[in-house]
Amino acid sequence: MNKKGILIIGAGGVSRVATVKCAMNIDTFEKITLASRTLSKCEAIAKDIKKNQKVDIDVAKVDADNVPELSELIKKINPKVVLNVALPYQDLTIMDACTSCGVDYVDTANYEHPDVAKFEYKEQWAKQEQFKKAGVKALLGSGFDPGVTGVFCAYAQQNLFDEINYIDIMDCNAGDHGYAFATNFNPEINLREVSSNGRYWEDGKWIETKPLEIKIDHDYPEIGIKPSYLLYHEELESLCKNIKGLKRIRFFMTFGDSYIQHMNCLQNVGMLGIEEIEHKGQKIIPMEFLATLLPDPASLGPRTVGKTNIGCIIEGFKDGIKKKVYIYNTCDHQECYKEVGAQAVSYTTGVPAMIGTKMLYKGIWDGTGVFNIEEFDAKPFMDELMIQGLPWKILDLPVE
Ligand code: NDP
Repeated sequence: MNKKGILIIGAGGVSRVATVKCAMNIDTFEKITLASRTLSKCEAIAKDIKKNQKVDIDVAKVDADNVPELSELIKKINPKVVLNVALPYQDLTIMDACTSCGVDYVDTANYEHPDVAKFEYKEQWAKQEQFKKAGVKALLGSGFDPGVTGVFCAYAQQNLFDEINYIDIMDCNAGDHGYAFATNFNPEINLREVSSNGRYWEDGKWIETKPLEIKIDHDYPEIGIKPSYLLYHEELESLCKNIKGLKRIRFFMTFGDSYIQHMNCLQNVGMLGIEEIEHKGQKIIPMEFLATLLPDPASLGPRTVGKTNIGCIIEGFKDGIKKKVYIYNTCDHQECYKEVGAQAVSYTTGVPAMIGTKMLYKGIWDGTGVFNIEEFDAKPFMDELMIQGLPWKILDLPVE
């Protein structure tokens, strides 16, 4: 029987946006099923979509850590593509279920082991042969960063430069949610990322820094100057392989003073620990307990004001002349909330997740195996960004 429709897994903040956007593109996707661990979360999203977009979404309950259970659901639905917007812990099991059912796979974050605060592509790249053998493809990292940042770099490589030497990925969230401390996406994943050592790639080597050790003040268009901290971010691992001529690639993210003070304090008292401890006869993981206490990122939508600005400063040569550009998108939290009922961090991830899925669904991006986003033709994705709510601009910067 011909495969038809998409299966979206996970029903959090990013999923809400991706599912709404897929519903707005129902002409492409034909049929949408939303499945997660908690059925009521899927039902709530489906209900809002029925009311606002007048599109019916099927819902299902699934534990995506369980490959047989997931495979059974995929076989029953028989979709063309599975979009994973659950957590990075589920990447490998969902990939396995996809190859066992012969279905394409898309995600927005690379695999993380629940017990080790370390993320890398190794285990997902190792599934290259598995995907080829099954005759299907995996598109890794189709959010904003990773995701659109990789597409911006690919677009620059394919259309603007003969050779790229330096890339700085700049991620600014100047939104204010009014809480002393909250994270804009899954708290556990966010805090593990920020409290880890920083790392960047230069002259073929990785250089490690202490958490938040390197800070620069950067002037973001439409926002202004913000302190920005060097972090390790997963797209560095694939971009340093896929962008030719690269000498250095780094990633910076803005944080307010209150966020950093809270995070340092939580770290100092052990609340960011990911190892089990005993509390009054119960086993708990401090980080999981903290995530329970913090506001649900999906609830920040109505109260977050301000903008995000994320982009890539790219420097290299065109026709023998030095050239430097900033390719970026600016997004307004309240406008996102009005459109899809979510703040801009979920929006900037959910929209590209839908676009990446669309590229595969329509066969615009083809092939078999495991791919990072910058390995494909960037132009059709860039065109979609313009019409799906994430318009981009290119700014020429002075070269030294
Ligand atoms: P949330 O925590 O809001 O949502 C995660 C969802 O996954 C929840 O609905 C949860 O279900 C579901 N889930 C968790 N475990 C399972 C499981 N075993 N089986 C089925 N469903 C499960 O996260 P976000 O929406 O904030 O983030 C989603 C993804 O997007 C994450 O991987 C995150 O890293 C990524 N991301 C990527 C970005 C990018 O730019 N590339 C930026 C921001 C996020 P339940 O609620 O029932 O527990």
